[in-house]
Amino acid sequence: MLTKKEIITEAKRLKFADIGFTGAEPFASQKEYLMGRQEEYGWAEAIGLGLLSGTEPQNILTGAKSIIVVLESYFEESFPLQMERHFGRCYLDDDRVTKDKLALKIKALRKFLRENGVDSKVPFNLPHRLSAARAGLGTFGKNCLFYARRVAAESSFVFPIALVVNHEFAADEPSVSYGCPDWCRNACVAACPTRALKGDGKIDPRRCISFLTYYGGGLTPLELREPMGMYVYGCDRCQNVCPRNTPWMTMVKPLNPRVAAKAADFEISSMLHMDKQYFLEKSGRTCFTCPLMTFGAGK
Ligand code: SF4
Ligand code: SF4
Repeated sequence: MLTKKEIITEAKRLKFADIGFTGAEPFASQKEYLMGRQEEYGWAEAIGLGLLSGTEPQNILTGAKSIIVVLESYFEESFPLQMERHFGRCYLDDDRVTKDKLALKIKALRKFLRENGVDSKVPFNLPHRLSAARAGLGTFGKNCLFYARRVAAESSFVFPIALVVNHEFAADEPSVSYGCPDWCRNACVAACPTRALKGDGKIDPRRCISFLTYYGGGLTPLELREPMGMYVYGCDRCQNVCPRNTPWMTMVKPLNPRVAAKAADFEISSMLHMDKQYFLEKSGRTCFTCPLMTFGAGK
């Protein structure tokens, strides 16, 4: 049977930044958290995201024994400044539409597992960040983001992908804790323009620009439009001001050619005037959904 070492080697070969293992026990604390905050998270159940169901790995894969968590480091290359001003970095080169980057890596890792007798599921609704912390990959910030422990200069510019598997692997030492230094006076909370962050590691997703841009139905609520400023899709303010991110943000990186090539198409003035054809030709293939673009597409 496949060993942890062989899986780690394959994950590294596929260029995942890090990998960890945890058991498939239920995420009881997450369930309790969600149950106690249905006013803020009830919408997620209403639209069928199944976050409560995702706290029980057996609901995802019958016979689940372990969870393998891999980390994707999405800010290895730099982005044109005019793009960073209006878009969250993690959306600038994502492949949710094209499925030609991260999706291929996940598929390859699952194929490797399958060919060695291990079934896997990659659920959307499992608590990915908590899985990653349980697998010892990093800690949390008071901005509710996950910070790597061994890669990307310990920054938050990573996202975890959890694979629930039907084979038991020894769990790694958990690292579930806050990693914020005492001297940081909650810079993220002060910087959040919509007051989504509460300062105790909790967030009201209904006020967060990132949540609003991919889950908000209809037009942005009036009281949030001015605080939202010039962000069109996503928001990185609570990451930009965080001292834990300074080493990675200030590191010189090569320019991302895919994002640089489309920068002119994402000029704010062009997007404001775009029609459906422009959206489909220029933007739609590389951006998941964008309220401004959807609005334009309806013309
Ligand atoms: S992403 Fe923006 S709106 Fe959301 S919590 Fe961070 S600073 Fe606030
Ligand atoms: S800004 Fe300060 S409080 Fe907020 S996540 Fe970063 S270190 Fe923690």
